[in-house]
Amino acid sequence: MAVMAEVVSTTRAALRSPASQPPPAAVVKDADAEKLQFIEEMTSDVDAVQERVLGEILARNADTEYLSKYGLTSASDRATFRAKVPMATYEDLQPYIRRIADGDRSPILSGHPVSEFLTSSGTSAGERKLMPTIEDELNRRQLLYSLQMPVMNMYVPGMDKGKALHFLFVKSETKTPGGLAARPVLTSYYKSNHFKNRPFDANNNYTSPTGAILCVDAFQSMYAQMVCGLCQRQDVLRVGAVFASGLLRAIRFLQLNWEQLADDIEAGSLTPRVTDPSVREAVAGILRPDPELAELVRSECSKGDWAGIITRIWPNAKYLDVIVTGAMAQYIPTLKYYSGGLPMACTMYASSECYFGLNLRPMCDPSEVSYTLMPNMCYFEFLPMDAAASGDGDASQLVDLARVEVGREYELVITTYAGLNRYRVGDVLQVTGFHNTAPQFRFVRRKNVLLSIESDKTDEAELQRAVERASALLRPHGAAVVEYTSQAYTKRIPGHYVIYWELLTKGPASGTGANAAVDKETLDRCCLEMEEAMNTVYRQSRVADGSIGPLEIRVVRPGTFEELMDYAISRGASINQYKVPRCVTFPPIIELLDSRVVSTHFSPALPHWTPGQRSHSD
Ligand code: AMP
Repeated sequence: MAVMAEVVSTTRAALRSPASQPPPAAVVKDADAEKLQFIEEMTSDVDAVQERVLGEILARNADTEYLSKYGLTSASDRATFRAKVPMATYEDLQPYIRRIADGDRSPILSGHPVSEFLTSSGTSAGERKLMPTIEDELNRRQLLYSLQMPVMNMYVPGMDKGKALHFLFVKSETKTPGGLAARPVLTSYYKSNHFKNRPFDANNNYTSPTGAILCVDAFQSMYAQMVCGLCQRQDVLRVGAVFASGLLRAIRFLQLNWEQLADDIEAGSLTPRVTDPSVREAVAGILRPDPELAELVRSECSKGDWAGIITRIWPNAKYLDVIVTGAMAQYIPTLKYYSGGLPMACTMYASSECYFGLNLRPMCDPSEVSYTLMPNMCYFEFLPMDAAASGDGDASQLVDLARVEVGREYELVITTYAGLNRYRVGDVLQVTGFHNTAPQFRFVRRKNVLLSIESDKTDEAELQRAVERASALLRPHGAAVVEYTSQAYTKRIPGHYVIYWELLTKGPASGTGANAAVDKETLDRCCLEMEEAMNTVYRQSRVADGSIGPLEIRVVRPGTFEELMDYAISRGASINQYKVPRCVTFPPIIELLDSRVVSTHFSPALPHWTPGQRSHSD
C-alpha cells in the first residue's frame, strides 16, 4: 500500500501542470496504480531502459541477414550498433520487405517470424508502405493502450461508471504473394484475440458491439455503431474516434441518416440496409423500441442547427477522445462547434511501425499536447532537424532519447523488435520538457506532406505528377496549366482537395473567359484524372470510405499568380527567392485566389481503387 500511495502521489505531482486541471483527489484503484507505477518505472531512467531494449533487439535480430550485412553478431552491443548500422528509409528496406512478402521465411529483418504486414497510410511510389510485424508486438501495443485510462482517471474521475462511444472500424485486408495478411494496424488489433476476447474492462466499455466494429462495410458498421450509441446515450461518458476526421464523419453520418435512425429506434428494429447477419445479431442485443428516444433524436436533428449536437445528444460526455494534433489540428474549430466546446483528449502517438507514447496530461489544450515516448516500445534515436533538412544527415548525428535538448526539433528514427533498424519514420518532433527523465515531444509535422484530409498524405511530387497528368487533357484544346496551388478544404465534411489552376489558352480572352477554349466537360475530367494519379490511400478514402469528397479545380483568371507574388513581396518575400506555394493555408491568400475564380469543376466520378497493391505497370 505504501508503494501505491507513493506512486499515486508522485505521479499526481508530476502530472500536475498549470495547463491542465489539477488531478482530483480520486481514489486510484489498484489496477490503475499498477499501470501508473509502470509509467514511473519506465520514465525514471530512460537510458537504462533503452539500453536494455536495444540489447534485447540485438539479441534476437543481430544474426538476421540485414544486420549481419553490417557486421553485427548476437554479441553486439550498443556501441557497435551505433558505429556500424546506417539510417534507413522505407525505400532502402523495400527489397528485403518484398522478399518477405513474396514468401521468403528466412530471418531477413527479424529473428522472430514475421506474422503479418501492417499497411501504413504513408506511401511509397503511390502504394501503402508494408511494415513487417511480429506476434509479440501486439503485447507491446496492448500494454500502451492499457496505460491510457489510468492516466485519464487521474484527471476525469468516474470514467469507469459509464461507456465510451468510440467509432472503431476495420478495413479490408489482402494477402501478400507469400500468404501473409496485409492490413492496417487497427484492423489487425480489432481482429486479434486480444480485442475480440478481451475481458470486461470498466475503463473501456464501448457502446459499439464487437460485431459492429468488425464489419468491413463502412456504412453498415457506422450505422450500427451510431444506433447503439444513440440507444445508450445516457451511459456515454466520452465520444471519440482515432482521428478528428473520423469523428466528424460520424457527425456527418448522423446528419444524413438521423431520420432512418430515429425510425429504427422507434420500431426497435434495424433497417434492412444493414444486411450483415453478425451486425444485425450484435445490434439486436441493444436496440429496443424507444419512441421517446426516437422523438429526441428527431427534435434535436431536425432543427437544422448542429451547434453542440454532441452534448445535446450525449449529455453526459465529459470529453472528446480524439487525436487533433498534427494534420488533424485543422478540425479543431469544427469539433468545437459540434461539441459545444468539450475538451479534446489526444491520448496516444503511434504508427504502423511501432506505438510510441502517451500524453500524460490528456486534458490539456490541444496546442499544448506533448507525448512522452515510452522507452520500452522500441529503441528511439533523433536526427536534429538542421541535419535532416540539409539532406546530409547521417547516423553519426543521431542523438539518444536521454540526450535530446529542450526546444530542439528532431526527426524520429526507430529500431524495432520487428526488425526495422534506424528507420526514419518521417515525423518531426520538438522537445517540450520531461516527465521524470523521459523527454516529452510536441508533434510538429510529418515531413513532405502537402495535402491531407484524413489519413491521406499527398506530397509535392505527387501533386505535381497529378497536375501534369491532368493537364495532358488540355493539350488538344491548345491550353496548358501555367501555375497551380492547392488547399485542403475542410469546411465541409467530407473535406476535399481544391486545386487552383491558371490556364494559358489560345482562345479569345473574353471578360471571364480565361478558359474559353476549354469546355466544362474537359475540366471536369481533369479533376478525375488528377484523382486517378493520386496514391492508393487517397483513392481508398474516396472510394471505399467516402471520407474524401470529389476533387475540385478552381480556374483563376490570368495574372492571378502574379498578384499572389506581388502580395508575398509586399509582405517581405524576396523577389529572387519567391516560389509559388504549392499549398496555401493563409486566409488572405485563399481569399485572393477565391476572388479571382472564373469557373469551378468537380470530379464527376470515383477514381479506380481496388484493395491490395497495384501492379507497377498500372
Ligand atoms: P500510420 O503509418 O498510417 O499508422 O500513421 C502513423 C503516422 O500518423 C505517424 O507517423 C504520425 O505521422 C501520425 N500520427 C499518429 N499519431 C499521431 C498523433 N497523436 N498526433 C499527430 N500525428 C500522429
